[in-house]
Amino acid sequence: MNYWNKDRSLISSTYDDPEFDLQYMAVNTPFGSFCQPDRTTWTIWSPEATQIQLILYASGSDREPDEELLRREEMISKGRGVWSLTLCGDFRGVFYTYRVTVLGKTKEIADPYARACGINGQRSMVVMLSDTDPDGWEEDHRIRFPESTAAVIWEVHVRDFSEADSSGMKNRGLYLAFTEKDTHVPDHPELKTGIAYLQELGITHVHLLPCMDFMSVDEHEPLSSYNWGYDPFSWFIPEGSYATDTRDGAVRIREFKQMVQGLHQAGIGVILDVVFNHVYYMQSHPLQALAPDYYFRTWPDGTPANGSGCGNEVATERPMVRQMLIQSLLYWAEEYHIDGFRFDLMGLIDVETMNLIRKELDQLPSGREILMYGEPWAAEPPQMRRGAIPADKAHVRMLSDRIAIFNDETRDAIKGNVFDMYSSGFINGAWYQEKAIENTLKAWTGPYQTVKQPTQTISYVSAHDNFTLWDKMVFAEGLSESGFTMPNAKLMEANRLAAVIVMLSQGIPFMQAGEEFARTKLGDGNSYRSDPSINRLDWQRTGMFADLVAYYKGLIKLRHAFKPFTCSSCETVRNMVFVQDIHQMVAFTVPGTDEDAWSMIAVILNALEREQEVRLVSWCDHPLPDEWDILVNHQSAGTESLGTIRGNVIRVPAHSALVLGNKRSNGNE
Ligand code: CA
Repeated sequence: MNYWNKDRSLISSTYDDPEFDLQYMAVNTPFGSFCQPDRTTWTIWSPEATQIQLILYASGSDREPDEELLRREEMISKGRGVWSLTLCGDFRGVFYTYRVTVLGKTKEIADPYARACGINGQRSMVVMLSDTDPDGWEEDHRIRFPESTAAVIWEVHVRDFSEADSSGMKNRGLYLAFTEKDTHVPDHPELKTGIAYLQELGITHVHLLPCMDFMSVDEHEPLSSYNWGYDPFSWFIPEGSYATDTRDGAVRIREFKQMVQGLHQAGIGVILDVVFNHVYYMQSHPLQALAPDYYFRTWPDGTPANGSGCGNEVATERPMVRQMLIQSLLYWAEEYHIDGFRFDLMGLIDVETMNLIRKELDQLPSGREILMYGEPWAAEPPQMRRGAIPADKAHVRMLSDRIAIFNDETRDAIKGNVFDMYSSGFINGAWYQEKAIENTLKAWTGPYQTVKQPTQTISYVSAHDNFTLWDKMVFAEGLSESGFTMPNAKLMEANRLAAVIVMLSQGIPFMQAGEEFARTKLGDGNSYRSDPSINRLDWQRTGMFADLVAYYKGLIKLRHAFKPFTCSSCETVRNMVFVQDIHQMVAFTVPGTDEDAWSMIAVILNALEREQEVRLVSWCDHPLPDEWDILVNHQSAGTESLGTIRGNVIRVPAHSALVLGNKRSNGNE
């Protein structure tokens, strides 16, 4: 690959030379194939190619009967590395590849900017996107969502959602499961599943594990293997193994849109987990053939950088890579009506690119409401171009206020360090976590804290990585294997405490699907390719753990019923008054706004195994009330009074939370 110079160190420096940027930047050019009934235009970028041919096929792979080569055409160099060709005729459903010659080597590749493809992405496909719209698609829009802090995010894998018998769904493991309404556990109409369940739970957004075309599941036999999908091949095409037909590239697009439509009809937003930090296999990836080592970072000796831990690292700070990310995200937002993006290993993307993405999404109608958040870390420090700054935890304050990070401090303070299976957090007995829990409830905002304001924090205690919350607690308590499957009073108490902290924290609450019904993977801490039976949601547990589900539901309702909980600025943080110097307890009061039913709410957490007493405090301009309604106790949560308490010295039962509200006496009642 050393065509710039024999010294590999100069290869990357040439790509990072401003002269190269000036010579080859073609930032406003749309790449891919664009189809009308009577013509199609193909456009691709390859700065050093000497020849590019467009090859048209009748089928999507050489394993299909009709694999005929239809046509071979020369692409025309348009300058700045852009190659283009327009052909007259109807090319809908025609498959294609490029034969690219760079430095005397010729490779046949799929189009990395293609909007459709055949099986396993081997060949790209021409598609007229309007042909893929399901009925009623023109009435479908992103959900309106002015405040990201009012979101409650539920993270799920497409296949896990519906694959179990207990889902009661027909389209098991498929995008189409998200179009099924009124489903329930077989023979148990009271146990709703799928969309109907989510509507009752009250979450606002479903966050889907990677759905852009990935390679680790063979689309010839989608059910023969399982994978989370963090091995992207295309950033423009939906994964095929979740579609009813993996060969016809239009089907996965239509069914993906139907999934989005199904969720939107239920009032639920759709967030995609986007993996831009690496590709499945760099050496054979089309981008590497088009511009060797341009799309990927290398060490000075020319070996691929590996900040992803997956063998390669995408050079997001280079202008044409940055442009590709922006084209991809704008496309998903516009064509598929996506409501938010979660950036895998965001610490490998540069700050400037992240902020530019925000700016570009903001230009769309209601684009400011599109959620953006990511993992502010990497497996290894990135090998970025000099001057580029990684979008990691250390630099979160340089990111837009509307780009959030997963706050691992929150997660670990609550349940213990994720990399130490036996460790504990506040909810199961770890000492000296009071301050960390106070910071969690404040979304780690403030002058010396991680983030600028609550819109930058994802508050969570479980995600697809590491143990489920329930399994982590089973290990921390030293329970036997039966602990994974059976309800356990002490674990339920700890789980309820965790739920109160996450749902009543400032920031954007997030949970792994099934956290609310004690999801177990039987102690599997990294199930990315484990058996589907480990990964799929067991909807029967919504019955076994019905009290826990109801508790989450009540907390979500309460969060949405009291404005200060979903505050996007630091105003609530400033209004919270914490009781100081209490042990294994955290307690604060916060006044309501004029629009709230309660003039004040008090949240008290007792992590000790015995009853404790606390004297509440408040700001002097918001005096404490004489009487409180109990809204949340050790058993129930919601907005209805569970009883009353007089005075401000509050006794809190062992290992539980109390949330108290003072009903506003405004003469309207
Ligand atoms: Ca695939």
